[in-house]
Amino acid sequence: MLKLLGKIIRIGVVTEPPPVADAEAMERLGIEVQRVLDRRFSGSLAIRHVDAGSCNGCELEIHALNNPYYDVERFGVHFVASPRHADCLLVTGPVSRNMEAALRRTWEACPDPKLVIASGDCACNGGEFGVSYASCGAVENVIPVDVRIPGCPPTPGQLLTGLLALFGKMEEERIVARDS
Ligand code: SF4
Repeated sequence: MLKLLGKIIRIGVVTEPPPVADAEAMERLGIEVQRVLDRRFSGSLAIRHVDAGSCNGCELEIHALNNPYYDVERFGVHFVASPRHADCLLVTGPVSRNMEAALRRTWEACPDPKLVIASGDCACNGGEFGVSYASCGAVENVIPVDVRIPGCPPTPGQLLTGLLALFGKMEEERIVARDS
C-alpha cells in the first residue's frame, strides 16, 4: 500500500487536462443549437440513432455527446429509443445488407418530415467498405439523406455543427416553399 502511495506521489497526474478551447467552442455551438431548438422545435430535439453497420468508432463519439463533459442534453438534444418518438434519425456506418430492411422500416416508422443525418464517412459515401455483397454502402443508397457529417469518426463538435447544418437546410427549404 505504502509502495503504491509512494508511486502515486512520485508520478503525479498523468491524464491530459481537458481541452479548454474545445469546451468553449462546444459551449458556443450548444447555445446556438439551443437557440434554434427554442425557436423551431419547442425547445427540444429527439434523435433516434441507428447503427447500420458501423465499426463502433462513430458510436463512441456519439456516446461522448451524452457524457458529463459534453452533456448535450442541457442544450435540448435527446436520444430516444423509438423512431416513433424521434424528430430525426442519426445513421452511422455503411448499411450492411442485414440492416437494409431494418433501416428502411425505422425510417418509415419516423413521423414526417423524416429528417435523416448520415454521420461519418461510411454513412456519407460507404467509406472503407463501399458497396459489396455484404454492404449497400452509403445511407442514401437506402433512404433519403438530408445532411452528411464527414469524418472518421466525426467529433462531438462536428456532430453539433451537422445539427446546425440540418436546421439551416430546413430554414432554406421553408423559405423556398414560401416563395414558390
Ligand atoms: S466513419 Fe470511421 S469510425 Fe465511423 S463507422 Fe466508418 S470506419 Fe468506423
